[in-house]
Amino acid sequence: MRKEFLPFSQPSISEDEIAGVDSVLRSGWITTGAKATQFEEDFGRYCGCKSGIALTSATAGMHLLLKALDVGPGDEVITPSMTWVSTVNMIELTGATPVFVDIDRDTLMTSAGLIEPHLNDKTKLIVPVHFAGAAVDMQPLRDLAASRSIPLVEDAAHAAGTEYNGSRIGAEGSSIFSFHPIKNMTTGEGGMFCSDDDVLLQKIRQLKFHGLGVDAHDRNQQGRSPQAEVLQPGFKYNMTDISAVLGLGQLERLDGFIEKRTELANHYLQLLSSVPQVHPLTVPACTSRHAWHLFIIRLDTDSSAMSRDTFMEKLKELNIGTGLHFRAVHEQQFYRKKYRQAAGTLVETEWNSRRICSLPLFPGMTMGDVEDVVSAVKEVLNQ
Ligand SMILES: *Cc1c(COP(=O)(O)O)cnc(C)c1O
Repeated sequence: MRKEFLPFSQPSISEDEIAGVDSVLRSGWITTGAKATQFEEDFGRYCGCKSGIALTSATAGMHLLLKALDVGPGDEVITPSMTWVSTVNMIELTGATPVFVDIDRDTLMTSAGLIEPHLNDKTKLIVPVHFAGAAVDMQPLRDLAASRSIPLVEDAAHAAGTEYNGSRIGAEGSSIFSFHPIKNMTTGEGGMFCSDDDVLLQKIRQLKFHGLGVDAHDRNQQGRSPQAEVLQPGFKYNMTDISAVLGLGQLERLDGFIEKRTELANHYLQLLSSVPQVHPLTVPACTSRHAWHLFIIRLDTDSSAMSRDTFMEKLKELNIGTGLHFRAVHEQQFYRKKYRQAAGTLVETEWNSRRICSLPLFPGMTMGDVEDVVSAVKEVLNQ
């Protein structure tokens, strides 16, 4: 058994990034400024999108988007229940109704075919999730959304660097990225809204900072009128330069991170092929570059005669950390009581919600760490 605990995830922060944060702290300007602007430009260029807007989180991005689209009571927003709770919480807090769609059993992703039956006059937005670093098959979804004139935004929290049929996620349409510490690159906390829609970009830029026409940096640097006007009530979701300078360093290393994650994931796939009780996800053919944000397996709870939760606890006893991405949202207390989702409507979501488990995967891991994890998995299953 391992002597030291292997966490399920750990950020990789370089000395240069620490020095960058240090220099911002000493510079006299620590909130949104030149570094945030540069991060927006560089991240936007990396994705191939028109413009990015740096925010405090992906959750903030979802909140702003819903407000920019004027989503509220009486409206419906379609999203998988197999997602992080933040999306559904934001929908709920605007007063709109989340409509949960099912997923494919082996990719954990939704599709045009699964979404179409839920569309109606109340549908105001569709939010597919690029899961684990792989890509949703977007073209059929884009065609469906366009044919009904319904906005579509991609939850790209797992997908910085992912490519769909040769193009980066973020290059087309609107996407929301996350830079939370477990994601493929981090700013401590942070997010980015990327879009090719000028109207939406302008609305979100305004809403992210009090609904003012300009932000504090514009006023300070460009000598604009200090009496900036509130054009509509807005939020306070702007990214600081302290975070942005970290993001600039991480973005430079993102391709290297993904290469390392890919090597580790391939090692897992090879070693786990001889463990019949665990089933990794399938990679969809449309994913031309997998960013390997997560390495998810499904435990065969029948043949292993063990629950997923017990499996996770036993791995922890062997000093192996794991994660759970995700417990289905509709099964969580608030949503279970409020929506009472009919049995049999989210079959694949519920099937996976009981069986999935994320194994350790981060760029600082070694091949030996992967071997430790697989040995521990085998030991737990053979007990
Ligand atoms: C992490 C995550 C989010 C939220 O990101 P934050 O930056 O923490 O707000 C949204 N959706 C998915 C699928 C995520 O994994």
